[in-house]
Amino acid sequence: MSDTVKYLLDESRIPKAWYNLMADLPTPPPAVLHPGTLKPIGPDDLAPLFPMSLIGQEVSTEREIEIPEPVREVYRQWRPSPLYRARRLEKALGTPARIYYKYEGVSPAGSHKPNTAVPQAFYNKEAGVKRITTETGAGQWGSSLAFAGSLFGLEIEVFMVKVSFNQKPYRRALMETYGARCIASPSMETNVGREILARHPDSNGSLGIAISEAVEVAAQRDDTKYALGSVLNHVLMHQTVVGLEAIAQLEMANDYPDIVVGCTGGGSNFAGIAFPFIGAQLRGGRKVRVVAVEPAACPSLTRGRYAYDFGDTGHLTPLVKMHTLGSNFMPPGFHAGGLRYHGMAPLVSHVKELGLIEARAYPQTPCFEAGVMFARHEGIVPAPEANHAVKGAIDEAIRCREEGTSRAILFNLCGHGHFDMQAYTDYFAGKLQDHSYDERELAMALSGLPSVSEAA
Ligand SMILES: *Cc1c(COP(=O)(O)O)cnc(C)c1O
Repeated sequence: MSDTVKYLLDESRIPKAWYNLMADLPTPPPAVLHPGTLKPIGPDDLAPLFPMSLIGQEVSTEREIEIPEPVREVYRQWRPSPLYRARRLEKALGTPARIYYKYEGVSPAGSHKPNTAVPQAFYNKEAGVKRITTETGAGQWGSSLAFAGSLFGLEIEVFMVKVSFNQKPYRRALMETYGARCIASPSMETNVGREILARHPDSNGSLGIAISEAVEVAAQRDDTKYALGSVLNHVLMHQTVVGLEAIAQLEMANDYPDIVVGCTGGGSNFAGIAFPFIGAQLRGGRKVRVVAVEPAACPSLTRGRYAYDFGDTGHLTPLVKMHTLGSNFMPPGFHAGGLRYHGMAPLVSHVKELGLIEARAYPQTPCFEAGVMFARHEGIVPAPEANHAVKGAIDEAIRCREEGTSRAILFNLCGHGHFDMQAYTDYFAGKLQDHSYDERELAMALSGLPSVSEAA
């Protein structure tokens, strides 16, 4: 096959529009509230932080939102991402299940995050923005936005959680290679950072603190906006290219999943693979079991409270109703850095409340065990976050074996682990600790939730 033919074939399989689950939900999610007035916020409240085009997507109820051509042109570099059948893993497990995985590690930054970084950079550039601030935990989001910023000529400033800044020098080097500036958070560059350092000079930082710093800088300057790599409706929607492609690719394989699995930090890669299937089901299509897998050390969906909370530690963001562990929750330093957020995307929380998805939590050691088994049979080394989805899919495949039923399982292999080999080294050395909480510890972080009357 000539390159041209391959190009045309691939091109036709990149979706022309993102899918918006809002259009098919039986009830809309609860309103986002202004932290001062406790009244629903309007587009103007968000205007200092985001361009109007993205605010429009955040509140849209249109089923399809067209992907701008310059964004599709960038997507073309790695999309459609491959859908693989894990035949060697199936054989090793002795399962009658058919295991499929969508591999997002083929993007330049090595994860699903460029799927939203690229359109966010595009819309900001279109609105005349010069600089974008953001936060990053393990560095995957920071490097994805740095990549996207380099394509559209935007300055990118990344507040990186200090413990990761020190532990993951290669992710930082990657951001700097793409031309971004990377600052350890908490920093002396913001009021929030200075206040925290005054009280806790040795603070390791957290995603909640880094978000506060990035928001503070963006709110102060007209030429600067803020970008978030997960949680928000428009971010989840950009990720639906993953599930839309999977539907088309499975159709070519003459199959359809009975079970869809994804790992959840803020909820975006999970929503990306799951929402198109949930939407099809809501429109009368086939029923799918959808399973969200989270770390036992940061269990917002399985053990958090569904309540209004802030998105950040400094309490600069609006209040959103979500499954939360409390904005002061400090997760321990386990290896899946991308899953260490105190809350869950409001839309993912909402579909959990509607009974459209299940959730379960695993400690990190069995997840690494699953990831290593996956690598030894399929050849790809998953990111520590993705190991949670691998473990979820393997457990479902084992259940098929025990029940003697052949089901199709689809999971999102949301990134590779090439920058996370220290985590694997620690796993092999038996150094990983499995942290979980007693009810008292969880109740303490939740006692700081803002009081919002449930009528709101
Ligand atoms: C950021 C990240 C996550 C967690 O974020 P979600 O929004 O829940 O997807 C998971 N896996 C990888 C590889 C990531 O980079």
